[in-house]
Amino acid sequence: MTIRMNDLPNNIFIPDLPEIYQIEVSRKCNLSCPMCPRKLFCRKDETEFIDINLIDKLIKEGSLEGSYFIELQMSGEPTLHPQLDKIINKLKPFVAIGLSTNGTNLDLDCLFELDYVTINYNAIKNDPTAIDRIRRFVQRAYRYGKPAIDLQIIELSDWDLDYEILSAEFKHELVLPMFNIRTVPDCFMTIFDKPDRLPVEKELCLNPWLSVSIQANGNVVPCCFSFGDDIVYGNIKELSLYEIWSVYNDEVVKLREEHRAGNYRNICARCYMRSPMLLHWAIFRDSIRRFA
Ligand code: SF4
Ligand code: SF4
Repeated sequence: MTIRMNDLPNNIFIPDLPEIYQIEVSRKCNLSCPMCPRKLFCRKDETEFIDINLIDKLIKEGSLEGSYFIELQMSGEPTLHPQLDKIINKLKPFVAIGLSTNGTNLDLDCLFELDYVTINYNAIKNDPTAIDRIRRFVQRAYRYGKPAIDLQIIELSDWDLDYEILSAEFKHELVLPMFNIRTVPDCFMTIFDKPDRLPVEKELCLNPWLSVSIQANGNVVPCCFSFGDDIVYGNIKELSLYEIWSVYNDEVVKLREEHRAGNYRNICARCYMRSPMLLHWAIFRDSIRRFA
C-alpha cells in the first residue's frame, strides 16, 4: 500500500497509547552476517539485554493497552536473553507474541509458548545443520499447536535458488497450516554498502502517529529501523509510555511535523520500508490468524 502526504487527514486519529510493535529483548547477537546493518548504527547505551523489571513496569503502567501483537526482536538475537521464558510468560496474558530469530537456538522450550516465529534463513544458510534443526522445530510446533512459523528468505542474490531448495526440502512441512516459506522483496539490510546512494523517499510513514519500538536499553523509538540513537522519544526507565507518547514531547511532535512537511531527517529520507507497522498487521492477519 502506498500512502501519500495528502492521504493523511488533518484530524487524524492519534491513539493515547501507541501500538508497541517490538520490544528488543536482546541487543546481543551470536552471528556476524555480512549483510547485517547493526554496525552502521551506534548507541550511547549498549545494554545487551532488556531488564525484566522494565517488562513488569510496562505491564503495571498499562502500556500494553494499545498493543495486540508484540515481536521481541530488533537488532540482536532474542533467544540469547537468559530470561526469555519469563518475559514470554509475563507478556502472554496481554498480547500475541512473536519473534524473529537467526535459527541457532530452535530447541528452546519457551519458543513453543509463542504465537509466531520468523526464521531468518539468510543468517544460517551456510550452516549444514540448519535444515534439520528447522525441520525438528516445525514438527515439534505442529505437535504442540504453535507457533505459526515463517521461514524467511530475503531477496538478495540467488534468493530464487534458495526458494527452490527450501520448497523441496520442506515439501512435507509445507502442507501444515502453521508453516510457510516467505520471501521479502527487499529490506533495510540490503542498503548495507550504499546507504547514501539511495533516492530520498517521499512516501508518508504512519509509524510516527501509531506505533513505537522499544530498544533493550529502554529507549522508545518510532520503528524497527531505529537501531541507533537517530530518533529517541524517551526512555521507559524514566517515564511511562503514556508520558513519552505525549503531544508535549518535542521529539514526538518534531518527527510528525517533519513527516507532514516531507522534510525528513537522514534515517527517514533513506528508509524505503515506510509504515513498517503495516507489515506487522499483515503478519498478524496472514500468519497468526491463518493458523489460529
Ligand atoms: S542479520 Fe541477524 S543474525 Fe545476522 S548478525 Fe545481524 S542480527 Fe545477527
Ligand atoms: S520513515 Fe522509516 S525510519 Fe522513519 S519513522 Fe518511518 S519506518 Fe522509521
